[in-house]
Amino acid sequence: MDNDFGWEKNVRKVVPYTPGEQPRETDIIKLNTNENPYPPCKEVRELLDGFDTYKMRLYPDPDAGVLVSALADFYRVDKEQVFVGVGSDDVISMIFMTFFNSDKPILFPDITYSFYDVWAEVYRIPYKRIPLDDDFRINADDYICENGGIIFPNPNAPTGVLESVEMIESILKENKDSVVVIDEAYIDFGGKSCLELVDKYDNLLVVQTFSKSRSMAGMRIGFAIGSKKLIRYLNDVKFSINSYTMNPLTQICGAAAVKDADHFNECTKKIIDTREKAKKELSELGFDFPDSSSNFIFARHKTMPAAEIFQKLKDRKIFVRYWNKPRISEYLRITIGTDEQMERLYEALREIIAL
Ligand SMILES: *Cc1c(COP(=O)(O)O)cnc(C)c1O
Repeated sequence: MDNDFGWEKNVRKVVPYTPGEQPRETDIIKLNTNENPYPPCKEVRELLDGFDTYKMRLYPDPDAGVLVSALADFYRVDKEQVFVGVGSDDVISMIFMTFFNSDKPILFPDITYSFYDVWAEVYRIPYKRIPLDDDFRINADDYICENGGIIFPNPNAPTGVLESVEMIESILKENKDSVVVIDEAYIDFGGKSCLELVDKYDNLLVVQTFSKSRSMAGMRIGFAIGSKKLIRYLNDVKFSINSYTMNPLTQICGAAAVKDADHFNECTKKIIDTREKAKKELSELGFDFPDSSSNFIFARHKTMPAAEIFQKLKDRKIFVRYWNKPRISEYLRITIGTDEQMERLYEALREIIAL
């Protein structure tokens, strides 16, 4: 138990984020943490094989210059508009620390990425959860009020629901005194990015990650693109904490992955095709779900409780994600795997639901 006497009264006590399970077994079908089922591009393999370990003596480039340049070229922005971090979790955490320092609450949806409230708590940032509507949509008007910053994913997680660039712009127009962060972890699976707005709004940050669409969750690469001013402030904080966060192998592999647009397009297309097939299959099995523009589907069964399906799938070594939380305890979040993995999922569901 907590002892609030002595040194323990001065501890920064937090309830940490709970990541999805990473089971050790290899014979499971892992559809629980939105990883990409396909490997990164061949160039990454070659760079790893050919890496001169003697270089490990040296500190890495603190600016991650090769990776920043590759991203700036790919997204057609200036290098001074790109900030990279060790996964977008690192990037977003830095954003919270750098920009969310108001007495007014930051705003994010009630159903969203469950790391946001954890960062708000750890940095002692006041926050307010804005309820999504009954269709899990964001209502722009709810974000037109006094606030200390705004953040949400687009498409949202764990719902998969995509909002339009126009709707997001309507929020930006009314919030010129706040930093607005759009977490585009899943944008490459068919959504339209807000990157087109960064030159128009100097208070907008768009965050993306290599963990989902670029098959590199294990390498830990995330980035933010925004105005030069925002990026400068972010770098000032980063260089006040730890300059050498990204190792040299990650920097060169990340740059190579950005340059291989063909591999990227091929893998994201396969996942989108499999997802569209999954929508049909899951409907036939008696599930309903908000329309997904991501690499997962947030589905609820008409008759069988989600907790029961979750357990029965697990017994068959198929892992999906389940939260016993208000408003979403009837849903399962199912990551889109390969076609073969998805066939095994449908077979298992047919047995469980006994159609
Ligand atoms: C996966 C995810 C992230 C974090 O990804 P990293 O692996 O840290 O790059 C951030 N936001 C959302 C909404 C995510 O789903």
